[in-house]
Amino acid sequence: MRPAELVVRGGTVVEAGWSAPADVFVAGGVVIALAEPGTPAPGTATEIDATGRLVMPGGVDPHCHVGFTSGDFTSLDDYTQCTTAAVFGGTTTIVDFAIPRPGQSPADAAYAQRAKAALGLCDSALHACVVEWDETVPGQLGALVADGMPTVKMFTTYRGETMAGEDTILRTMKTLRDLGGMVVIHCEADHIIEDTQERHATSGRIGAEHMAETRPELAETASVAEVLAIAESLRAPVYFVHQSTAEAVELVAAARRRGVPAFTESVAHHLVLDDGHYTGPAPERFVCCPPLRSRQAVDALGRHLFTGEITTIGSDHCCYDVAQKESRRTDVRAMPNGLPGVETRLPVIFSGYVAGAGLPATRFVELTSANPARTNGLYPRKGTLMPGADADIAIWDPAVRWQVSAGDLHMATDYTPYEGMTLTGRPRTVLVGGRIVVHDGTLVDPVPRGRHLSAGPISLTPALGRTAP
Ligand SMILES: [Zn+2]
Repeated sequence: MRPAELVVRGGTVVEAGWSAPADVFVAGGVVIALAEPGTPAPGTATEIDATGRLVMPGGVDPHCHVGFTSGDFTSLDDYTQCTTAAVFGGTTTIVDFAIPRPGQSPADAAYAQRAKAALGLCDSALHACVVEWDETVPGQLGALVADGMPTVKMFTTYRGETMAGEDTILRTMKTLRDLGGMVVIHCEADHIIEDTQERHATSGRIGAEHMAETRPELAETASVAEVLAIAESLRAPVYFVHQSTAEAVELVAAARRRGVPAFTESVAHHLVLDDGHYTGPAPERFVCCPPLRSRQAVDALGRHLFTGEITTIGSDHCCYDVAQKESRRTDVRAMPNGLPGVETRLPVIFSGYVAGAGLPATRFVELTSANPARTNGLYPRKGTLMPGADADIAIWDPAVRWQVSAGDLHMATDYTPYEGMTLTGRPRTVLVGGRIVVHDGTLVDPVPRGRHLSAGPISLTPALGRTAP
């Protein structure tokens, strides 16, 4: 073993499958050993005291929109801002999306977005996106998979912008199956939503306070069932983003039991916040798609963190500010959809479910780091602290109580949907590639060294219900 340059001492290492007291030895940007507590290191090694702390692999956010343009709005962060906030929140890898603008090809969008990775404080990967099929798409997908971008986002909603028809979804899924890639898909049946919105508009109930009723749960379950049928008939892998209801999760789980390699992602806000916010004083600040659901639905969804049927937890981070949210609050059809969340994803889930409901910390790491790394072809470089992994390490104080306030966060916006919430536990020191970037809650190394991660094979292990690599 080469000499360690840095040692994280005295903490409890938490991996997806186990946790135990261990010292983490780091050199050359990677973990070189997990050792018995107190194992000596060369006198020159930097030592970080992690006594009483949880030492976890940095979070991997599988669903993060950086500077995303949709309709008339562009979300407000760049790679430096988004990844700075990510690292403060214990996340050290983000997976962004390259959504083509009208007329732009999937490959052009992906290569343009990939070039921004160097502005990040941490590493990033990308989902490409297919909206329309033409004869050039298979060649583009082949090039993208070969260049380490095997996951492709698709939408069954947002007609005229990013919505893809069933035939395009089928062809893309089939092509990616043969290339070793995977479709990641936003499922909400657009015809049901359009009709529901039309009825609401006619009766003057189309403002932000009506958000939940304008995009019903039925629209999500109908679309998930349709896409699952395509995947099952093709025997192709598929990853459902931001599943917001237990019914949708259970459709995927049932398909998995029939052998379909299908994954469920849920996002932090659907697991924590409910539709009561739409009747509050600022409903526009909670407008996202799918919308927040009833408290009963939130609780039913949260139970699937314990059953194992949810594969990953993302943020669906989309950094709009209050002015953008307020500007179209009277018509949800014209609103910027999405909530800022890359920094709060891990703390709200840790507090609500690990500290608050007894979810094992090992399962937390599996949902927020290991499994997102696996489904994105980034494991075991990311998502673990086993020797050889990048030394991306989040050192958590599991007991500290703190109150969320937008003014103390680092996202490029002026609000947070969790304002005023009291949380238990937060990352205090975060290492990226073996360098201390955040220490005791302060940014100590603001130099962007982000790399675009070229994804390897997607691991279907999480779909098979096993946790061992
Ligand atoms: Zn999204």
